[in-house]
Amino acid sequence: MSVDMQYYRHCVQSLVQVGSDLYHRGWSPATSSNYSLRVDANHCAITVSGKHKGALTADDIMLVDLDGRPCMDKKPSAETALHVWLYRRYPQVGAVLHTHSQTATILTRLKGGDRLRLQGYELQKAFAGVATHEGELALPVFENSQDIAALASEVDAWLAEHDNPWAYLIRGHGIYAWGETLDDCMRHLEALEYLLACELEVLRIKGVNA
Ligand SMILES: [Zn+2]
Repeated sequence: MSVDMQYYRHCVQSLVQVGSDLYHRGWSPATSSNYSLRVDANHCAITVSGKHKGALTADDIMLVDLDGRPCMDKKPSAETALHVWLYRRYPQVGAVLHTHSQTATILTRLKGGDRLRLQGYELQKAFAGVATHEGELALPVFENSQDIAALASEVDAWLAEHDNPWAYLIRGHGIYAWGETLDDCMRHLEALEYLLACELEVLRIKGVNA
């Protein structure tokens, strides 16, 4: 089946806009981060490698298949595997945003452990399927790695054993968030950034060892 290029171009424009938005929030400094949108059952649009996310143009986005193979003569993001594995695992997922905020970077370095546990925050309800602040939102934290294929399979093995968390963290690195639509994904990312900022502020007040 051929790709609907008109829809692809719509995705490209959305990703250009989201790059500007996330850069100006301070969540995608330098040339870090990468963003993608599902185009169809077998393809996604994703940012190319190494571009400044505050100044993306349509040329900085490309089509890849869900095995991460380029469908255009461009170089996809180094972390493409982390995106396409999410689309393969969750057929309903339409958007993946990966950011490198200072808050996520510092908090995952300060706090050890393989889960970030959030409890008692009203905004936990921003995550799809969460109806109350009373439960615990326990997001996985993976150790950073330059071996993206190994990291992607580690993440996927974790996801296979748990309910969809809609986001995970990589220590000293950043956040992966996803959603059925770009708006859903942005809501998850924005809520998580807010919750992480709250947690970091609590540590600042109470001290890391309190
Ligand atoms: Zn990254």
